[in-house]
Amino acid sequence: MANISIRNVSKSYGSLKVLEPFSLEIENGEFVVLVGPSGCGKSTMLKILAGLEPATEGRIIIGGREVTDLAPGDRDIAMVFQNYALYPHLTVRQNIGFGLKMRGTARAEIDRRVEDAARILEVTPYLDRKPKDLSGGQRQRVALGRAIVRQPQAFLMDEPLSNLDAKLRVHMRAEIGALHKRIGVTTVYVTHDQVEAMTMADRVVIMQDGIIQQIATPDELFNSPANLFVASFIGSPG
Ligand code: ADP
Ligand code: MG
Repeated sequence: MANISIRNVSKSYGSLKVLEPFSLEIENGEFVVLVGPSGCGKSTMLKILAGLEPATEGRIIIGGREVTDLAPGDRDIAMVFQNYALYPHLTVRQNIGFGLKMRGTARAEIDRRVEDAARILEVTPYLDRKPKDLSGGQRQRVALGRAIVRQPQAFLMDEPLSNLDAKLRVHMRAEIGALHKRIGVTTVYVTHDQVEAMTMADRVVIMQDGIIQQIATPDELFNSPANLFVASFIGSPG
């Protein structure tokens, strides 16, 4: 687990500025949600944290270590995306253990960590099934399993629930919340859904057109939105 420090980071694609310079200090174990309308720059911000896109300016420090110029694999983070494609020809056990195997982790260690992750996510009964024989929620849990088995310093999640139906989405929100309570890993979670943000976050970062409009707890946002955009976006009486 680690704190994440984002210092004066900005992003342009050519002459198109998609993120104005921003800074954000994320505490060890905190669950921070980036929320805003489509195209406001949420995924870009997450990709910069992950090392999948370079920042145009600024620095990123994870757990006291500068990672600004490090490749994704060297940042000790795990990502969960919306399109969490599992390997169809591999069992749940092999899917969860795949990343460790690629890193050359010893077989016994892989087995132990996969079984721990499966227990946390309650997919132990399905370890020998293929993805096609799982429900949508079970598949989502396996995708989370692939992330937690690596025991990263931080989780980055980009709309991980948006492919699920509404009922399952609400259920998985609670599951991710419970998972976070259990393992307490620093998490940056992206969604365009303000209800998801307000129910899951320790702190919410509200974005519009590449600009952070407010960083606050859900209570603070609801009771004192910084401006009309924030008030109407979260539906506060503000
Ligand atoms: P969000 O995740 O909030 O929907 P994105 O971070 O995906 O928003 O995109 C922010 C803006 O950056 C959008 O205007 C998008 O079109 C633009 N953008 C994203 N990726 C690229 C790219 N590779 N090249 C050019 N523009 C991009
Ligand atoms: Mg996005």
